[in-house]
Amino acid sequence: MTLRERAAPPAAVDPKRAALAIWQPAYIGLGSNLDDPRTQVLAAVEKLRALPNTRVVAVSKLYGSKPFGPVKQGDFVNAVVGLLTQLDAPALLNEAKAIERALGRPEKYERWGPRVIDLDILVYGCEKRADPALTIPHPGIVERNWVLYPLADIAPSLDIPGVGRVADLKGSIAPEGLWTL
Ligand code: AMP
Repeated sequence: MTLRERAAPPAAVDPKRAALAIWQPAYIGLGSNLDDPRTQVLAAVEKLRALPNTRVVAVSKLYGSKPFGPVKQGDFVNAVVGLLTQLDAPALLNEAKAIERALGRPEKYERWGPRVIDLDILVYGCEKRADPALTIPHPGIVERNWVLYPLADIAPSLDIPGVGRVADLKGSIAPEGLWTL
């Protein structure tokens, strides 16, 4: 984390919402492999810092990862952010999608193809939901080392609802095609 990032002012809290909602811990996975991926991931972290009624409390190391799947493409940069938020999970997803659009992500992507930025809600409090529009915990966590390793940087003891403890999950997957930046 740079000094400039550390010095960023916290986003304003809407007093009406603050009076109503509790703060929930949430973890967001970030990934990019287009248009200077490191810059894209850091820009997304800054945009998460600026969300209303939300505080970023932890940022993992940045990781490089080899792309997965049939499409030939550049390496990814990945990270995980831990935050506290008064937004409910669907509102947080809307904000995540707005950040993706602001960073130039088109509406549709080729499956497994390159992407300028991808934000996934990995975990939201104790919530479990299986809606295709919002599945929590994110179904890809268990087999993705580029999610589990950065998540373990900031929350090794986190017990992901219905899935398991982060450090144990990390221990069962090799860091193949994954490196720290
Ligand atoms: P992707 O191409 O992997 O970024 O998938 C994007 C779509 O997945 C979005 O339209 C979301 O509505 C949906 N989605 C389902 N669960 C989640 C989640 N936990 N976090 C982010 N997007 C999700």
